[in-house]
Amino acid sequence: MTANKKLLFLPGDGIGPEVVGQVRRIAEWLASRRGIAFDIDEDLVGGCSIDRHGVPVTDAVMEKALAADAVLLGAVGGPKWDNVDFAIRPEAGLLRLRKDLELFANLRPAIVFPALAEQSTLKREVVEGLDILIVRELTGGVYFGEPRGIFDLPNGERKGVNTQVYTTSEIRRVAAVAFDLARKRRGKVCSVEKMNVMESGRLWREEVGKLHQESFSDVELTHMLADNCAMQLVRNPKQFDVIVTDNLFGDMLSDEASMLTGSLGMLPSASLGAADASGRRRALYEPVHGSAPDIAGQGKANPLATILSFAMMLRYSFDLGTEADMIEKAVADALDAGVRTGDIAGPGTSPVSTSGMGDAVLERLDAQLA
Ligand code: NAD
Repeated sequence: MTANKKLLFLPGDGIGPEVVGQVRRIAEWLASRRGIAFDIDEDLVGGCSIDRHGVPVTDAVMEKALAADAVLLGAVGGPKWDNVDFAIRPEAGLLRLRKDLELFANLRPAIVFPALAEQSTLKREVVEGLDILIVRELTGGVYFGEPRGIFDLPNGERKGVNTQVYTTSEIRRVAAVAFDLARKRRGKVCSVEKMNVMESGRLWREEVGKLHQESFSDVELTHMLADNCAMQLVRNPKQFDVIVTDNLFGDMLSDEASMLTGSLGMLPSASLGAADASGRRRALYEPVHGSAPDIAGQGKANPLATILSFAMMLRYSFDLGTEADMIEKAVADALDAGVRTGDIAGPGTSPVSTSGMGDAVLERLDAQLA
């Protein structure tokens, strides 16, 4: 790379700073051992920003986020801020980031490391080696469609209304993200809707199909009804590579898929926005878990979800697939060697600390260069 890429780290609250701290060590390793240096800035979001500035994210931090090539967030929130005004609660900082960066595609991978296959509620052979990615449309559909509300009817009943709406451009931009990502993976996209009962689903299937023919015919495209997809995810999840779907179905299917892996401390995520003229997409990477106030400050947090979020950043924002693979392999090797934080330790295993897990990943990275 020529000029260093700019990263903004927003560790946030609770275990956020502890887990983001381990990513810093890996970024330092990349700079010293692979010659890949980032300019890393760090700032406040969530409760810590409320304490310092009275708001969960300041305009200055928003400017930095908009100017960064990618943002890594730890977690926000905790009991200390449970009673602050709703408009400035810690989560409002995260919502503003997602909204102002116009992050319309939410990426949730479900990866099952062989050493953790027993943690899944499904049989080992069904989930072992699983690596799928769910791309959920995040800013449209029934959660935002108008009309909406609860209305009084003349007969004394009440009526609750939400509206599923998608436009051509909303469908095409999220489908384009899914096709792009598939090219960096195993080259397969399954598009999911309910075209048998919903017109918005019929439009979804038509537009995804047209875009595929126009620009992505090298990627294999299949279509599936959402109810069948929910069933297939538990029957034979390894048939999928990338699944792209709307906001509502994506909400449910991504939670279902994440449970295949069995552990909250292992789940990374990313949210992507539109590509600019140079192909750069706004992007926010974060673990799926929250600030875990029950274990914060005790060195017990599992940093792997955040480390794996960083690997996603390398792959999807910077085309550094080799380095992303190296980090994912180092995580898998550490787990194979039996290294566990408390949340994934089985009976009879003595857990390592947050930084102990960081050490284990760095050791396995070094071993790959030896
Ligand atoms: P949580 O994800 O913080 O914790 C749930 C349980 O999982 C806890 O027992 C916790 O100790 C454990 N856990 C979570 N991450 C872990 C990790 N990396 N290593 C080991 N154990 C881990 O969810 P919660 O308890 O419902 O919420 C706590 C706070 O986090 C709340 O204020 C909530 O609003 C906030 N939250 C923030 C985000 C976010 O920032 N994206 C997401 C969810 C919840």
